[in-house]
Amino acid sequence: RVIVVGSANADLVVAVDRRPGAGETVLGADTVVLPGGKGANTAVAAGKLGARVALFGAVGTDAHGQLLLDSLRNAGVDTALVRTVDRPTGIAYITVTPDGENSIIVSPGANSAVADIEPTMLDTAAVVVGSLEIPLPVVEHAMAAAAAHGARPVLNLSPATEVSAATLAVLDPLVVNEHEASWLLGGRTGAATELATELRTLGPRSVLITLGARGAVVADDQGTIEVPAPSVRAVDTTGAGDAFAGALAAALAGGAGLAEAARQASRVAAISVTKPGAQPSYPLASELGNAGT
Ligand code: ADP
Repeated sequence: RVIVVGSANADLVVAVDRRPGAGETVLGADTVVLPGGKGANTAVAAGKLGARVALFGAVGTDAHGQLLLDSLRNAGVDTALVRTVDRPTGIAYITVTPDGENSIIVSPGANSAVADIEPTMLDTAAVVVGSLEIPLPVVEHAMAAAAAHGARPVLNLSPATEVSAATLAVLDPLVVNEHEASWLLGGRTGAATELATELRTLGPRSVLITLGARGAVVADDQGTIEVPAPSVRAVDTTGAGDAFAGALAAALAGGAGLAEAARQASRVAAISVTKPGAQPSYPLASELGNAGT
């Protein structure tokens, strides 16, 4: 099965005409509360595709924690490894302006209490997929433990963070978007295929760069392949990267090769941008035609 090691946040979203400056108050529309966080989103994406998946993470005893647990369970995600701790559930405070731009404050709360995964929890894992928004050492430990246990370590290095060479060396693949790729390469820009080749020199066994509407690039020992995204009318790209990571992990756990898994993930993520929100926008296997995982 897939084990996702990552965050769970309640997204508190408010639309405003403009963002307030220092010392200023502006009135917004009604608050919308949505289940989110990169880890929970990734797990829900895999679960909705029918993959066997568990989230390793933490929530608080509050209503936001319950919202997240309900959303995970509704998507078929095993929550036995989600600890309930005496901290507020993580919250992302999101303001959206009419130009579609977000400003986001993340208060990690319970996500800061996620501790190292027990190796025995990985006994049934084929793929372990990590992301940040939880303590970096916990993610690095999980990637090493996965590799030692014969599970495939996949890291969505988002938000971009500096990780050790030892962690990079086990990743198969390292998953980043274009901004994160450029950041990891000290601000370098260029063709995605070149960035992917450069990223491989940092040590990962394979690299996957997501390119928004342009799809993704995969680089491994077999070479570098461009994977297109289906052309869609994008209405909300929130959580597209998480949908990609979850679908990728589901396909890899199902035995797909990396290029095939990336193709599947690109289709799933493209569908997710055609609907508002993150988790509610993720497709079920039945919505993918005959190519479900
Ligand atoms: P992030 O959300 O992490 O910034 P990207 O913007 O690269 O990541 O998007 C992740 C994936 O979502 C892409 O690889 C693609 O499959 C899909 N996607 C994102 N935006 C679009 C779009 N406008 N049209 C089609 N697919 C998209």
